[in-house]
Amino acid sequence: MADTAYLDWPFLEDRHRQLARELDRWAQVNLAHAHGPDVDAECRALVRSLGAAGWLRHAVGGTSHGGAAEVIDTRSICLIRETLARHAGLADFAFAMQGLGSGAISLAGSAEQRAAWLPKVAAGEAISAFALSESEAGSDVAALACAARADGDHYVIDGEKTWISNGGIADVYVVFARTGEAPGARGISAFIVPAGTPGFEIAERIDVIAPHPLARLRFTACRVPASARIGAPDEGFKVAMRTLDVFRTSVAAAALGFARRALDEGLQRATTRRMFGGVLADFQLTQARLAQMATTIDSAALLTYRAAWQRDQGRNVTREAAMAKMVATEGAQQVIDAAVQLWGGLGVVSEQPVERLYREIRSLRIYEGATEVQQLIIARELLKEVSA
Ligand SMILES: Cc1cc2nc3c(=O)[nH]c(=O)nc-3n(C[C@H](O)[C@H](O)[C@H](O)COP(=O)(O)OP(=O)(O)OC[C@H]3O[C@@H](n4cnc5c(N)ncnc54)[C@H](O)[C@@H]3O)c2cc1C
Repeated sequence: MADTAYLDWPFLEDRHRQLARELDRWAQVNLAHAHGPDVDAECRALVRSLGAAGWLRHAVGGTSHGGAAEVIDTRSICLIRETLARHAGLADFAFAMQGLGSGAISLAGSAEQRAAWLPKVAAGEAISAFALSESEAGSDVAALACAARADGDHYVIDGEKTWISNGGIADVYVVFARTGEAPGARGISAFIVPAGTPGFEIAERIDVIAPHPLARLRFTACRVPASARIGAPDEGFKVAMRTLDVFRTSVAAAALGFARRALDEGLQRATTRRMFGGVLADFQLTQARLAQMATTIDSAALLTYRAAWQRDQGRNVTREAAMAKMVATEGAQQVIDAAVQLWGGLGVVSEQPVERLYREIRSLRIYEGATEVQQLIIARELLKEVSA
């Protein structure tokens, strides 16, 4: 069983402790088999069951639209992601994408847009996706080229998006497109595009090392009403950044969940694997490895829950969230690698828990801002303070 001492940290309140414990109990019963070969079917089923059990309410903002709180509580989504990731990576993915996919609607949607989508997303009845990245606009996302041209009371979208999680199974996509008011990060607007809108198609499904629904999207003269635009024209980039700001700390929490599971698996193997007249854990080299794993996890957890707490106080967390994401994802990669090493040959056998974790952690160091991007953010904030 993973260390739960962190639940007593002052960053958290009793309602958070209760949430984490209840979800852990639910996950033990409901997620034991969430690793089937058909990821589309698995994800649909996970979204439905996470919705029916009420967990997805935490991923959307606004109590009148199915949300657990008026404003998404960062500590709650972190605890949920950490707990789900510890049990089943795909369950964490399903939860996170309902939040990220509908985040722009929660944060900046009109009353009609919120009423139309948030209750369904919170109930697990509609699957959502966040379509920002393009093949030539990943880290440099302000370079995006997908365009939306105003045409009377409609917009006509042309272009492509790639690496879109839930692509192929989502019911609703929030698509960021250039409306041309200005170059670069200006002149981008966000649109709600329901699956099945004429002119919108899945151009390609993408297989990745830790399988989950992922696709390249194509828009060809895709007409959407002007009422599908989220917020004012030209506000899309700001909306995208605000959405990522909410969820960046939760990526750190997911990494933490993977790392905690890896430490549990490592401890279990080290204390039972017989060798040289004892067990693996008898050796000081093993003990040093375990000590390093546990310390890496605690340092990542401290940064993660500091950022989450600070955000919930309504304070800026640009630097803190970047630190948490960088340290937690990079640290989890090291912890998981150490767990694979402790498991020896068994550690690289397909679908062993540590083998799965080894694949699952990798993309967290890339998406929602690669580690190098987080480093630049942290340095920029530091230098800003110095020059101020
Ligand atoms: C599994 C997965 C799921 C995803 N889901 C979504 C989604 O749902 N929606 C969405 O919009 N996007 C999604 N993405 C896209 C993701 O956000 C991009 O992959 C990410 O922003 C990096 O862009 P890129 O892949 O084009 O890499 P590039 O931008 O080409 O960067 C490549 C590498 O360059 C390095 N780098 C970047 N900037 C700098 C710098 N300034 N200095 C030095 N080095 C640097 C980093 O190491 C980076 O990994 C997903 C990606 C993956 C892998």
